[in-house]
Amino acid sequence: RWEGEAEIDYVFKVVVVGDSAVGKTQLLARFTRDEFALDSKSTIGVEFQTRTLTLHRKRVKAQIWDTAGQERYRAVTSAYYRGALGAMVVYDVTRRATFEHVARWVEELRAHADGSTVVALIGNKADMPAARREVAADEAARLAEEQGLFFSEASALTGDNVERAFLTLLEEVFAVVS
Ligand code: GDP
Repeated sequence: RWEGEAEIDYVFKVVVVGDSAVGKTQLLARFTRDEFALDSKSTIGVEFQTRTLTLHRKRVKAQIWDTAGQERYRAVTSAYYRGALGAMVVYDVTRRATFEHVARWVEELRAHADGSTVVALIGNKADMPAARREVAADEAARLAEEQGLFFSEASALTGDNVERAFLTLLEEVFAVVS
């Protein structure tokens, strides 16, 4: 038997979406490898990263998909969304436009992913100085509540809230599928 593989109880596909340069790749690197790569585009072309963890005594392989830059050409394909049990919509707290596009990403998700896909809204780059901030946390929390999404600010750079955000999302997915 193939060591490791046979012990997986669930594979959860999670997709990460949002405008270009909001920090999707770095959030994924932080969660799957606990690193922040300075040459940020090292993962281009890689479809997903995985991390295996235990939830409620089950071995869960989280398969986290990165758009790998496709979003720049508005060419995120339906194959990207197919079978996604969870999704993270990411914006950058220092760029208001990326927050204004959240509704569009949520619509895109709802159109392509399954109706039961669990969606989290993540305001990344929370480490940036207050003077650079263009989106207040309570405004994003309100939007998340209206849309029925879990919300958290996070920083892929410092690692703040990244683990918690992914784990909360995976827990919610677990509750849906188990
Ligand atoms: P993507 O295009 O959404 O995948 O964004 P990247 O992960 O490539 O990040 C875009 C830029 O934002 C890069 O220069 C990163 O170093 C930077 N970045 C990503 N996450 C953070 C963060 O949490 N804080 C700060 N200050 N910069 C970040």
